[in-house]
Amino acid sequence: RAKAEVARSTCFYDASMDEHARERRDLAAEMRSALEQGRFAVHYQPQADFGTGTVLGYEALLRWNHPVRGMIAPAEFIVLAEETGLILPLGEWVLRTACTEAVGWEPHLRISVNLSAVQLAHGDLPDLVEKVLRETGLRADRLELEITETAIIRNRAKALHVMERIRTLGVSIAIDDFGTGYSSLATLRSFPFDRIKVDRSFVRDLASEPQSLAIMRAVLALGRSLNISVMVEGVETAAQLKTLQDEGCTQAQGYYFGYPLPPDRLPHSVPLAASA
Ligand code: C2E
Ligand code: MG
Ligand code: MG
Ligand code: MG
Repeated sequence: RAKAEVARSTCFYDASMDEHARERRDLAAEMRSALEQGRFAVHYQPQADFGTGTVLGYEALLRWNHPVRGMIAPAEFIVLAEETGLILPLGEWVLRTACTEAVGWEPHLRISVNLSAVQLAHGDLPDLVEKVLRETGLRADRLELEITETAIIRNRAKALHVMERIRTLGVSIAIDDFGTGYSSLATLRSFPFDRIKVDRSFVRDLASEPQSLAIMRAVLALGRSLNISVMVEGVETAAQLKTLQDEGCTQAQGYYFGYPLPPDRLPHSVPLAASA
């Protein structure tokens, strides 16, 4: 009887596995045709210098405009795009779209584009970046690429080589989601970063958790002594902003300054930090 139960549950398990595999296959196929049919979009979120109330630039954030499901966030499809390799043409499309858009902005504004580990590991990323800059006419120093620590760790030697070549072009590189990987400090020591983007989890608990404040303070000090800019992600409230300002931070990104929006709706200024 126990055996029959096991058999039954195994059978059920297999069926659900099939179902899961089918869903993934369908989603991957849908993603491929969405790219061909122009159903992906890039939204842009302001990056603020809140000391002066100015926009430094915008981060490009990918969206999938699905005919039935509406706007789908990258968390729901990036991993599958990586697993199927579609991230290569998709990532190239994001880069080209974002650079084309940025050419039309004020010339001091920067564009930040996220890179996947797969893009870092495959093909010739520096050549692609160079080609896109040439084709769009965007000045290299206006482009910043955001790379997570996790992406680097998969193949450190290749990542280092690629990053060095990209920086030779005059493009800058930020470490994204800083503090969430398992060797953030070692990564910072061994790789050439122009900017640290502190993960938003450290901001969330700034007021309630003394540890978060201590860590934030230490990262800001680290940035100052390494001469690397520090941008804090996920600032949502005036109170968080005030705390960051008191710690000598000047750069941040988050809903407080602006949501990711389509390119025709971008804010041209951001709220100033309240004077103390
Ligand atoms: P990320 O690069 O760390 O981007 C910041 C994420 O935080 C974005 O989510 C943004 O909408 C969200 N965010 C910004 N401000 C706030 C805030 O104040 N509060 C909260 N709760 N969230 C905030 P999104 O757009 O869903 O993107 C999620 C992740 O997907 C990105 O994290 C990035 O890792 C990845 N991603 C987005 N676009 C691309 C892309 O074009 N290529 C690749 N490879 N990855 C991408
Ligand atoms: Mg990012
Ligand atoms: Mg991030
Ligand atoms: Mg993130």
